[in-house]
Formats: sequence, structure tokens, C-alpha cells
Amino acid sequence: MAKVAFLGLGVMGYPMAGHLAARGGHETRVFNRTTAKAEVWVAANGGSFGRTPAEAAEGADFVFACVGNDDDLRQVTIGEGGAFAAMAPGAVFIDHTTASAAVARELAAAATERGLFFLDAPVSGGQAGAENGALTVMVGGDEAAYLRAEPVIRSFAKMVGLMGPSGAGQLTKMVNQIAIAGLVQGLSEAIAFAKAADLDVEKVIGVISKGAAQSWQMENRWKTMDAGEFAFGFAVDWMRKDLGIVLDEAKRNGARLPVTALVDQFYADVQAMGGNRWDTSSLIARITPKSDT
Ligand code: NAP
Repeated sequence: MAKVAFLGLGVMGYPMAGHLAARGGHETRVFNRTTAKAEVWVAANGGSFGRTPAEAAEGADFVFACVGNDDDLRQVTIGEGGAFAAMAPGAVFIDHTTASAAVARELAAAATERGLFFLDAPVSGGQAGAENGALTVMVGGDEAAYLRAEPVIRSFAKMVGLMGPSGAGQLTKMVNQIAIAGLVQGLSEAIAFAKAADLDVEKVIGVISKGAAQSWQMENRWKTMDAGEFAFGFAVDWMRKDLGIVLDEAKRNGARLPVTALVDQFYADVQAMGGNRWDTSSLIARITPKSDT
């Protein structure tokens, strides 16, 4: 069993750290910026907490993080009280934040300078995936470090893959978000059209979900989208952060993403409707009469 640290006990990090301790059996020390959450976690899961990322990371073989964005990640790694300064040579930092490929490469270089390893390892599967320990993890970085970390990551994952060098995990997550953005808008329009045509939406979905239009979003979200319920996970504010990262990267690599750029603006409309914390399926709220939602 390894000595591990987990930084950031949010919606995702809290259960992921729990699986490292319970399912993985690893000696787990956590850090959360708001210490009260770390105290609650320790009371529920055992282990211990540090008051800074450095205090939590000291002596750990693997240091995990799941914080908000690029700047938050810099703060817990190379900022004041950051983990890197306290980690022993050879230790591996595994970052589950959805961040840019640029910050992954920057921190991988900073880790190398200190004799550490940095893996960018964003996740897919949402809150339910984290709680059930069934996340998909897309990793970029050094292969030897990956092979050491993989069995530990499996404590909360059902699928883990090394996608390439530093940044490749984040780039893969961008592909995931591009695929979701257009699909959710298409599904929103499909449901809105079925309603406008006075069709029985349940019957329609029951049939077409067995054909070529089938998708995870259709199977799992049509009903709540139809009912105008948007409290099922990944928030619109987070999606806009992710699409911002995607569109920045596309400027660099020349990929053309007209639909993704448009859907990003549609999510801005949802924010303007007060939907910052609604889940991403709320795109339908823009195009469905209010009395129906
Ligand atoms: P969350 O519930 O808002 O939690 C964020 C965590 O990061 C909290 O523990 C927060 O500490 C900590 N944090 C933020 N900024 C920090 C800073 N500057 N220094 C130290 N700690 C900081 O977010 P989440 O839903 O767990 O998401 C975390 C990451 O996973 C995001 O990058 C998100 O895009 C990604 N993700 C989320 C989902 C999802 O379904 N939620 C799915 C896939 C990927 P405090 O408690 O003190 O605020």
C-alpha cells in the first residue's frame, strides 16, 4: 500500500480520496483550502489532513489533486505552501483538474527540475462516477511514472489510459468536451421538436434510442431534460471553463470548431438565465417555452 495525499475535496475530490483510503487501502492524507471540509473527511474516512498542500504532500509516494482551474493548480503545486517543495525525489503528482495542456506541460517541466513526475489526468464520469469509483481517466506524461501510478488510480476508476506525453490527457479531455457540446445541443433540439410536434416524447426516445441516434446523453438525460430538471452533475460554469480551454487550444492548433464555439455562447445564455450551477443538459431551457420546463 502506498502513502498518498489528495488536494481538493470538492464534489469530485472528496469521494475520490475516500476510495483511495477505503478501496485502495492507502494511507491517505488530505488537504482542503477550507479546512472544515478536511476535518469532515477525516472523521468519515480516517487518515489525516495537512493545513497546506506541502504539509499533506510531505513523504507521499503519490500526490493527487482535483481543484478548479489552471491558477488553482499552480497555487497548490508551485505557489506558497505548494506541494512540489515538500515532495521527495521520485514522487508522482497526479492532477485530475480539467485544465489547459499548457499548464500541464509547464508543471511537468517544473516537476522534472525537482526530480518529481507530473501526470495530467483529467476525468470523465461526473459526480456519480466519482462517488461510485467508476471514472474514466485520461493521462499524459512519463510512461514509467504512469505505470507506477495506474494501480493506485484504479481505486476510483473503471478506465485509465496513457494518451501520450504531458498535455495529452488534457487534450483528450478537450476532445471529450467537444463531442458532448454539440451532442447535447442536438438532443435539446430533438426533444424540443418532438414536443412542438405533439409527439409522445417517451415513446419517441424509446424507439430512436435503439437506432443510430442513441447516445449516453439520450439514455440518461432525456427524461430530466424533458422535465426541465437540471440538477444532475456537471455545472454550466465548469463547462464554460472547459470550452474556453478548448477554443484557446483550437486557436493554437488550427482545428475548426464552429459548433463548439456556438454552443459555448448558448451556455452563456444559460448563465444569463441564472443557470450557472445547472447541469450541462440545461441547453434545452433556452429553446423550450418556460411553462414546459
Ligand atoms: P468543486 O466542488 O468546486 O471543488 C473544487 C475544489 O478545489 C474544492 O476542494 C476547493 O476548495 C478547491 N480549490 C479551488 N481553488 C483552489 C485553490 N486556489 N487552492 C486550493 N484549493 C482550491 O469542483 P469539482 O466539481 O470537484 O471539480 C473539480 C475539477 O474537476 C474541475 O476542474 C472540474 O472541471 C473537474 N471535473 C468536474 C466534474 C464534475 O462533474 N463536477 C467532472 C469532470 C471534471 P474549497 O473547498 O476551499 O473551495
